[in-house]
Amino acid sequence: MEVLTLENKLDSEKDRLLRQKAVPVKNIDNEIRKIAENMLKIMHEGKGVGLAGPQVGLLKRIFVTHAEGDGPRVFINPSIIWTSQEQVNYEEGCLSLPGVYAEVKRPGKIKIQAWNEKGRAFTLDLTGLLARVVQHEYDHLEGVLFIDRINEAKREKLLTKLNKHTKLVKRKKVG
Ligand SMILES: [Zn+2]
Repeated sequence: MEVLTLENKLDSEKDRLLRQKAVPVKNIDNEIRKIAENMLKIMHEGKGVGLAGPQVGLLKRIFVTHAEGDGPRVFINPSIIWTSQEQVNYEEGCLSLPGVYAEVKRPGKIKIQAWNEKGRAFTLDLTGLLARVVQHEYDHLEGVLFIDRINEAKREKLLTKLNKHTKLVKRKKVG
């Protein structure tokens, strides 16, 4: 399992996976628990605060989070059932878009319903960083990236930066 990074190319298999809508998890069994465990591990290694199935090439509705001041969490088949009218700006980054960051406007508070890795249903009222991370990860399940939520001029700038960053990493690996 490894994190897919956006290549921003029409014929990219990675981009296709990152851009597709994920399907519901059928059974919360040992297999999905193992997947959740691996995803948490990869997220921690990448120093991320969230990671969604499509980011590791798994088109299933699962994501994990570990925001500051909170513990690790697993969300399976989540639905955002309420969002606040009030929107807030916050700088986002993404393990699939290394080296680029942008301010994104989203609802400040949300209510989410999901199942955890034990198969238990839960509902959470979220605010602050965790509300932000959860909305970002939920987007991944819909094939949406944070750069889709900013204006086109800014997006183009970030994609140029992303391509440069990716080339640099590739060169480093060779050299
Ligand atoms: Zn992301």
